[in-house]
Amino acid sequence: MDVFASLDGHEQIVHCQNPETGLRAIIAIHDTTLGPALGGLRMWPYADEAEALTDALRLSRGMTYKNALAGLNHGGGKAVIIGDPEDGKSEALMRSFGRFLDSLGGRYITAEDVGMTELDMEYINAETPWVVGNSEVRGGSGDPSPFTAQGVLAGIRASLRERFGHDEIGESSYVVQGVGHVGLDLVRRLRAHDAKVYATDVRDADLQRAVAELGCVAVAPEAIHDVEADVFCPCALGGTINADTLPRLRCRIVAGAANNQLADEAAGDGLHERGIVYAPDYAINAGGVMNVALELQGYSRERAHEMVERIDATLTAIYERARADDTPTWRAADRLAEARIRDMGRVRASAPVTPAHGPLAPGGRD
Ligand code: NAD
Repeated sequence: MDVFASLDGHEQIVHCQNPETGLRAIIAIHDTTLGPALGGLRMWPYADEAEALTDALRLSRGMTYKNALAGLNHGGGKAVIIGDPEDGKSEALMRSFGRFLDSLGGRYITAEDVGMTELDMEYINAETPWVVGNSEVRGGSGDPSPFTAQGVLAGIRASLRERFGHDEIGESSYVVQGVGHVGLDLVRRLRAHDAKVYATDVRDADLQRAVAELGCVAVAPEAIHDVEADVFCPCALGGTINADTLPRLRCRIVAGAANNQLADEAAGDGLHERGIVYAPDYAINAGGVMNVALELQGYSRERAHEMVERIDATLTAIYERARADDTPTWRAADRLAEARIRDMGRVRASAPVTPAHGPLAPGGRD
């Protein structure tokens, strides 16, 4: 087997092992053309190292595209710890991961992802400064979910304009799949515009709370794809648009927070063929990563809110590109991300421009 061929253009893979603490982890750095790699750390009971590596490679590549399109000066990276997040953790394990992370000198910056807690991140942070998304009491930006929800709403505005020619949130109806951290916040924002919202969750207590507190209409999880409404907002797990659900959809727009909403490229092409506007997941859900990235520049909540609103313009650019190229939006998003990486890569590889005769006169040419 050609090991290098399977690395999918990745720059660096670090296998981390410490028999004393039981640490087995992989750090995957996909591309640092735009800057140091940024992406979350996940702990999961992978069956073996091959499965963990596959996940790390896929996720880190995704972060390259997400960060590029978010306008961040960061490349893509992701780390996975092999183990059970329920009973496989210790301070020593987390700190030994922190030592490996520190050895990369900031080429990869990590944040909380599936299976990690604030305390785990605190242990890692004890060994290295290359951690973002810290709690507010520890000088970080806290829970990123409200910023993700804000970005989804901004992306919905752009999508409404694309499909209906206006961006009045309250004039459309919505179906929200998953009322967890992001989904519940999104429902709150939609209801603030008096929009009609259908919602579902596999955790019935969470769903009933959304109904009681926010006045949305409860739908059974298995029936959510069949609801007739303008906008379907996936805010649960990945793969929700697939060969089974695609023909059932009765919406005009798909715009939500979940990662990897399309089961495969055919699902994205199918939305395009059915005339359903698809807001590419990694573009519309970038509010959280924008927020944590600002921690590296001296965090400002106002600046984070301002930056997240740019998701509207990003989505608009994707839709324009998709129309110009007559291609599905998922492919247009990839092309825009790749163009930014290519263009900025050229800029960063070129020599600095030095004025031949000293600085230019203010406002004029020499
Ligand atoms: P969460 O775990 O708080 O919420 C997910 C909710 O979905 C839970 O309430 C869960 O019960 C529900 N759910 C799971 N499977 C379901 C199903 N089949 N049908 C209906 N409901 C189901 O997670 P979150 O932080 O709100 O994130 C939601 C999604 O957005 C995830 O895909 C996540 O990767 C993505 N995302 C989150 C952020 C963020 O800032 N939290 C940022 C970017 C992307």
